[in-house]
Formats: sequence, structure tokens, C-alpha cells
Amino acid sequence: MKKQPLNTPLPHTLATPAGTIHYQLTRKKVRNLNVRLRPDGSVAVSAPPRMPLGEIEAFLAKKSGWVLSARQRMLATAPAAPCRYTKAECLALFAPVCDAIFPLFADLLGGQKPTLKVRDMTSRWGSCNLKTRTITLNMRLAEKPRAALEYVVLHEYVHFLHTGHQAPFHAEMARLMPDYRQRRKLLREPGPDSK
Ligand SMILES: [Zn+2]
Repeated sequence: MKKQPLNTPLPHTLATPAGTIHYQLTRKKVRNLNVRLRPDGSVAVSAPPRMPLGEIEAFLAKKSGWVLSARQRMLATAPAAPCRYTKAECLALFAPVCDAIFPLFADLLGGQKPTLKVRDMTSRWGSCNLKTRTITLNMRLAEKPRAALEYVVLHEYVHFLHTGHQAPFHAEMARLMPDYRQRRKLLREPGPDSK
């Protein structure tokens, strides 16, 4: 039999009392057996080159309860359905809000409107790139109340003044949008946190 080169993942199946585990076994120059769950729910095992398969599978069988329940949790929290709106629809919805807020920052930005981009993001509602003068908004904002969208747009604009979220940032937010904390609450359920 041809010897398998190291680092080639090979599919294996193991029946355990907790259920069947399908896993990819990679032989590597590692000291210990390593079991890892990938974000797509697949199980990756790396093992030292000479460790017998029986030893690997005995370990996996012992950990099978953990592996299978962790896998189930991971798949349950998999990304939600795609955004209901297209990028073009989001841009059409967001651009007027950005244009309405821009005059407050026109002097600061030398009269030049920031570039607006939209993306489907999982961990933030928006971001502001000072260097490229780009505001990127989460497409999911199209599914939120307009008051919340306005809050996020202003939030990103205020980052042109204050990079972090320290007291001066919040003071500026409160000055320009006294009810910004209530508006931020509209983003909460369900969706990414506001960054
Ligand atoms: Zn921020």
C-alpha cells in the first residue's frame, strides 16, 4: 500500500454510543491528538504520525458526547437566511439618510461626502474607515426601523471626529441626537451588536 503523505485529511466514520461521528483525520507532526470543530460543523482530528487508529478512535468515542453536542450547537447558530434586500435596494434606502446627516460634518470633511458601501455583516451594524473616508453599513439595517438606521449612520459619521467610544464620542452623539440610546435599543432584537 502506498504510504499516505502527512497532512492529507482522510475521511473516517466512527460509530459511538452517542451517535456516528464523521471526521477528517490528518496525520501531523504534533505531540497530542487534537479534535477541532470547524464552523461548518465538520470534525477535524489531527494526530501524531504513529498513533494507532484504535487509540485515536477510543479517545474520540470517550469525547463523543461533547463532540456531537458541540456540533449540534454550532449548526444551530449557523448564519441566518440571506438578507431580504439586495445591495442596490439597501444603497437606495441608506444613501438619503447619509446625505441628510452629511451637512453636519461637511466642514470637517472638506465638503466631500464619504463613500457609502453596504455589506451583509454578522458582527457589526456599520464601520467607518477614516483613511478611505468610507462608511460601510450592514445590509440588515434595511430590516430595522428608520430611527435605528439614522442612529447607526450618525454613529459612523461621529467616528470622523472621535475614533473610539469614549466619553467625547457619546457626548457628541447626545448633542446631535439626544435620543440616540433609545434608537440604539431598536437594533437589539435580534441581530448583531452595535459597534
Ligand atoms: Zn463605533
